[in-house]
Amino acid sequence: MASALQGILSTPSARRVCEQSLEQGAGNAGNRLQSCQISVRSSHLSSAACLSGRSKLFLAASTPSLTRNSRPGLRILAAAGSKKLGNRKLRVAVIGGGPAGGCAAETLAKNGIETFLIERKMDNAKPCGGAIPLCMVGEFDLPLDIIDRKVTKMKMISPSNVAVDVGKTLNENEYIGMVRREVLDSYLRERAASFGANLVNGLFLRMEMPSDANAPYVLHYNLYKPGSSVGVPATLEVDAVIGADGANSRVAKDIDAGDYDYAIAFQERIKIPDDKMVYYENLAEMYVGDDVSPDFYGWVFPKCDHVAVGTGTVINKPAIKKYQVATRHRARDKIAGGKIIRVEAHPIPEHPRPRRVRDRVALVGDAAGYVTKCSGEGIYFAAKSGRMCAEAIVEGSEKGVRMINEADLRSYLQKWDTKYWPTYKVLDILQKVFYRSNPAREAFVELCADEYVQKMTFDSYLYKTVVPGNPLDDIKLAVNTIGSLIRANALRKEARKAVLT
Ligand SMILES: Cc1cc2nc3c(=O)[nH]c(=O)nc-3n(C[C@H](O)[C@H](O)[C@H](O)COP(=O)(O)OP(=O)(O)OC[C@H]3O[C@@H](n4cnc5c(N)ncnc54)[C@H](O)[C@@H]3O)c2cc1C
Repeated sequence: MASALQGILSTPSARRVCEQSLEQGAGNAGNRLQSCQISVRSSHLSSAACLSGRSKLFLAASTPSLTRNSRPGLRILAAAGSKKLGNRKLRVAVIGGGPAGGCAAETLAKNGIETFLIERKMDNAKPCGGAIPLCMVGEFDLPLDIIDRKVTKMKMISPSNVAVDVGKTLNENEYIGMVRREVLDSYLRERAASFGANLVNGLFLRMEMPSDANAPYVLHYNLYKPGSSVGVPATLEVDAVIGADGANSRVAKDIDAGDYDYAIAFQERIKIPDDKMVYYENLAEMYVGDDVSPDFYGWVFPKCDHVAVGTGTVINKPAIKKYQVATRHRARDKIAGGKIIRVEAHPIPEHPRPRRVRDRVALVGDAAGYVTKCSGEGIYFAAKSGRMCAEAIVEGSEKGVRMINEADLRSYLQKWDTKYWPTYKVLDILQKVFYRSNPAREAFVELCADEYVQKMTFDSYLYKTVVPGNPLDDIKLAVNTIGSLIRANALRKEARKAVLT
C-alpha cells in the first residue's frame, strides 16, 4: 500500500535524479545489485563456454540504456537452433502455486509447453495484506468477484497522528483491489489447469541436476493424494524448472542462488464490530513512526469481513511484536471491541537474490526477491515475473518444440531489470529519505497532502507506469519537498539537542 509513496519520486524530474544516482551506484541495494550483475556476466560467459547442442549464440554490445538499467558489457540474446525435441514437447515444472507460479504455469500451458504446477497446499492462505493495483485486474484478466473490496481512500497518519486523506484525485473507476490470497491463488492455478497445466499437490524436496545440456532435471517431491495428508515420495523428470516457491525457496537453495536481507512482516486479522467496519468499507490506513516500525510502516487494510492490522521491520526483527502492539494502539478507537481471528508472520525479501537463473532453472516472485522496498508490494510483481519468465521459455523453445538453455532464461532477466529496476531503486531511495526519523516521516505525510503528489502517486501505483507530469507542478513539488526536508532536518537537530540537554 505504501507504494502509494512511489508517486513522490515518480515525477519525471525526480526520476531523473534517481536515474543519476542509479548510474552512480548509490545505496546498498544498488551495490548489491551491481555485484550481482558482475556474477551474472561471468556466468554468461561460463555458460556460453560450456553450452553444447546449440548451434548459435548471438553476442551484442549493450545499448547505453541497457548499461544504465541492466548490466554492462556483452549481452546474450536468446539462442536459436537448439536441439529439436522430436515427438515430445518441452516439459517445465513450476514449483509453488502462488501468483508467480499460477501465472507462469498459465502462460506455459497456453503455449503448448507440457506444464507441471507443484503446490504443497492447495488451500494455502498466504499471510498477506492482499492489496493489488488496478492494472493487475485488467492485465491478468481477473474477474471482479474475486475482489472483496475496492479501496478508494487512504489515510496516511504521521508519528504525531496528523492524518492526511489520500485518494482525492481518483476517478470513479479507479481503486486498489483487496483480495483474499486463498481465492486469488486458487483462481490463477485453476485457470492454468484449464489451459492444460497439470496441477500436482506435492511438497518439492530437491532436484538432481542434469548431466548435460539435454538431460532432464529429476525432481523429488512428496505427493499428497486426495484425502490424505501423508506424502508419498515421487519423482518427476523435466527439461526446465521455474522456482516460484516464495521467500523460503528450496529451488533457490538447490541452485545456490544466495540469500537476501529480509523484513519480517507481522499481521493480525481482527474481526471488528459491524458499525466499526463501516469506517473501513473502502478505506485503508497507513501509520508511520518509530513506535510502529523503525524502517517500515504499520497498516490497517480492510478485508472481506474483517481488517488486517500489521507492521514490518528489517532492522529490529526481535521487536516486531512491540511494533505490532503499537500499531494496534494507534488504531485503537477504530478497532475497539475487535476479536483477533488469526495471527500470521512471514519474511518479505528486501532485494533480488545474487543469482536468479542457473542453466535451465529460473526464480520468479518472492523466490527471486521481487518485493518493492518501502512498500512491501509483491503480488503484481510476482505475477508479472512469472509471466515474463514463461514467455521467455515459450519464445526460446519456439512453443515447446526445442530445448532451452540459460541464455533463453537470461532474456527474461534482462527485460525484467530494464523495466523494473528504476521502480525498485526509487522506492529504496524513498525509504532512506523519509523513513529515517520521525521528523522526516512528518515531512513525508505533509507532502502527501499535495494533490499533485497524490495524482502521481496513485497513477504510478495503480498503473505501474510513469505518467508525464506538468513541469510547473514538478518544480513546485521539488521546492515543497526540499522545504519539508529542511524543516524535518531542523526538527531532528532540535530533538537531538533536547535529548542531550
Ligand atoms: C504480512 C504481509 C503482507 C503483505 N501484503 C501485501 C500486499 O498488500 N500487497 C502486495 O502486493 N504484496 C503484499 N505482500 C507481499 C506478497 O505477499 C508476496 O510478494 C507475494 O505473495 C509473492 O508471491 P509468490 O507467488 O512469489 O510467492 P508466494 O505467494 O509465497 O507463493 C509461494 C507458493 O509456493 C508454495 N510452496 C512453497 N514451498 C513449496 C514447496 N517446497 N513445494 C511446493 N510448494 C511450495 C507455497 O505454498 C505458496 O503457495 C505481503 C507480504 C506479507 C508477509
